Parts: sequence; C-alpha cells; structure tokens
Amino acid sequence: MAKIKKKIKTIKIDADKCNGCRACEIVCSGFHANPKYSTINPARSRIQVITDRLKDIWLPVFAGEYTPAECMGRDKYIIDGKEYDECSFCRASCPSRDLFKEPDSGLPLKCDMCEDEPPQEKPLCVQACLNDVLIYEEREEEVEEETRSEDLEAGVNALIDKYGLQKVMDTVARVLQSE
Ligand code: SF4
Ligand code: SF4
Repeated sequence: MAKIKKKIKTIKIDADKCNGCRACEIVCSGFHANPKYSTINPARSRIQVITDRLKDIWLPVFAGEYTPAECMGRDKYIIDGKEYDECSFCRASCPSRDLFKEPDSGLPLKCDMCEDEPPQEKPLCVQACLNDVLIYEEREEEVEEETRSEDLEAGVNALIDKYGLQKVMDTVARVLQSE
C-alpha cells in the first residue's frame, strides 16, 4: 500500500492543573453547532471533564471511537490515592453511558481536532483553557494511505444499530429518489 505523510496532532493533558472551569466544553459545543456558535450545550462537547468534587477529581477526556457494545470487564484506576470511577478514562461512545452522544439523536460524537476551513491555529479547547492543561503538538509521520472513511463508517454503523439496517436503507433510497 502507498505511503503518505500524515500530520499527527496530539493534545497532551496535564490533568493536575484542571480546575473544572469547563471553558473547553463550552467552546467545543459552540464551535460544532450549526451554524457555528448558534448554541452552547456542553452535553454536545467532544471533550468532557469527568468530575468528582469530593475526591478533588477533574479529568478532561476527549471523545474517541464509537463502539456498538459495552466491554465485558471494567478497570479502576487509583492515582495519587484518588480512586477513579470505572470508565473514567475511556474515550468510547458506548451504550453503557450517555457520554459522547449527540443528546437529541443519540449519534456518536468524536473529537475531530477542530478540522475546518480555514484551519484553526490550535484546537478551540486548547485556546480556551487558560490553565495550560491542554497542550497542543504536531508532528509528521509516514503512514499507509487510508482507503476508507472511518468516521463515516462509524456514523452509519451507529444509525444501523439504532434504527436497523432496513430502515436506514429505506431512508437512503427515499433521499436518493427525491434528489
Ligand atoms: S478549560 Fe482547562 S481548566 Fe477548564 S475544565 Fe477545560 S481543561 Fe480544565
Ligand atoms: S480539539 Fe476541537 S473537537 Fe476536539 S474536543 Fe477540542 S474543541 Fe472539541
């Protein structure tokens, strides 16, 4: 398979510095509203700050892949004497919880690094975080050329899981007829 150069974008998370202000959630939900900034709803954000005030836990987590089934086992982390809830570090949009799902449709949300035209200098959540929790880095790597759109596939799979294959196919056929 052909190799191409790909820009790898990373956000390092210095979680100890997070104070739970949630500016990252607010700006992410506004940036992804349609039209942009027409609504602000942190439930639509692709970054969520997992919070347990009594344990002094503020953990920013970015939305990752959609998964149709919850996993069979769970992990519990204890870091610096703080016990985190099961699934706290997980990035998946998964049936076991409401996190990383579009509140109205239930469709999965995934961080897209604020890809847009014109490109942003830095992802919006990084720009909004005044406590230097989110640190943006870029590097180039040689990777195999992608032959399919994984995001599109994840969205179609989620629709099929929710409505069933026949209903999705009937809807696509109806849309094509009306074009
Ligand atoms: S903007 Fe920064 S400090 Fe505020 S909640 Fe998000 S990561 Fe934490
Ligand atoms: S990088 Fe962009 S899409 Fe991802 S969580 Fe931050 S603001 Fe949202």
